[in-house]
Amino acid sequence: MEGELRFDGQVAVITGAGGGLGREYALLLAARGAAVVVNDLGSSADGQGRSKTADRVVQEIKDKGGRAVANYDSVEEGHKIVQTAIDEFGRIDILINNAGFLRDRSFAKMEENDWDMIHRVHLRGAFVTTRAAWPHFRRQEYGRIVLTSSAAGLFGNFGQTNYSQLVVTGVITASVETEDGRSCQGRLYVVDGGTPLLGRDLQKSLCISTWHGSTVYEVDRQPGRSSDVEAGNDQDSATQSAAKMGLIGLGKTLALEGERHNIITNVLVPAALSRLTESLLPPELQRQMAPVHVAPVVAVLCHRRCPAAGAVVEAAGGAAATYRWQRSAGIADLELTPEKVLDQWEVLDAADPAAESPDTPAAQMALLSRQLTDAAER
Ligand code: NAD
Repeated sequence: MEGELRFDGQVAVITGAGGGLGREYALLLAARGAAVVVNDLGSSADGQGRSKTADRVVQEIKDKGGRAVANYDSVEEGHKIVQTAIDEFGRIDILINNAGFLRDRSFAKMEENDWDMIHRVHLRGAFVTTRAAWPHFRRQEYGRIVLTSSAAGLFGNFGQTNYSQLVVTGVITASVETEDGRSCQGRLYVVDGGTPLLGRDLQKSLCISTWHGSTVYEVDRQPGRSSDVEAGNDQDSATQSAAKMGLIGLGKTLALEGERHNIITNVLVPAALSRLTESLLPPELQRQMAPVHVAPVVAVLCHRRCPAAGAVVEAAGGAAATYRWQRSAGIADLELTPEKVLDQWEVLDAADPAAESPDTPAAQMALLSRQLTDAAER
């Protein structure tokens, strides 16, 4: 194995780095030789107000002998943040789009302004900041970009409809047995006829990365509606995140367009204790879920030797994994009717242990073509 992964001579821009996860990324990259632009608007957890929190992180870095400069612009004006890197350090090699805040409301209570604010910062902010960095990356034939999605983007999370879109069609009471033998019961929500998702009851008891490897026993299944979830807590359960899912789409395309210029983009799905999550994480998990445990994964995604592009990488508490789409076994019938679709829905939707996982439109098309050819030959 080679020695320590270092960033000597490189310049990193990290948005929202005045606290939480971004601060840990800034400290780690600076400790390993990068000069860092610590951007932060210094807003509250729901995106209000401004303060110079970035100064504290810059001072921490300087106290340890590192190089850093603060920037207080909003990511909505990302070109100013990138310009700070050029003015202070003469280049930019790494961009970590991390800035964000929460404006959690159930869909029924959401104002247009809540929706717009989330999109302006999370999705459009990442777009404009990346667009400002892109010409520098192309010119030097080198760049590393990280976009920050979330589990709310992958799976939905009730109360984060501006992050998402929600149709709950079923509620399952389930029992989960973890690898270390603990078990607990709670609700899972079936979203839009799809995968059952853990509600807050279970998320509270289990580390997100632990329940993926756990055995889930179904106890009872009932038809459900969004209001079943709404009856609980606004941050309670299952939706799909529009802004955070949008970042996955952006990241996958940037990865493709950047490939021949050695610009590598990946999407991070972090989970960590921060002011955004302190009321959601159970006390026994809070210490392990410190943001410092996410930073090593981000460092690899930012490094010259980054082994992935266009990946969706989960990092939480020292656990890391990647996500890909999985297609169900599906049905194929050259004389398909609406009635046949409805009758065969369970087969169409059945998870197949040997299911294919297409990861590009071309791979998806190849699968479809193979399946339809097989059907024509029957
Ligand atoms: P945090 O609140 O500690 O950090 C976010 C920072 O972004 C704050 O310092 C805030 O001032 C800054 N910010 C907000 N709006 C900004 C803007 N317009 N311009 C510049 N800076 C701005 O929260 P965190 O948990 O460290 O979250 C960091 C990122 O990770 C966010 O994008 C969040 O959505 C995402 N995320 C976090 C978790 C988690 O478990 N903590 C889970 C999933 C996704």
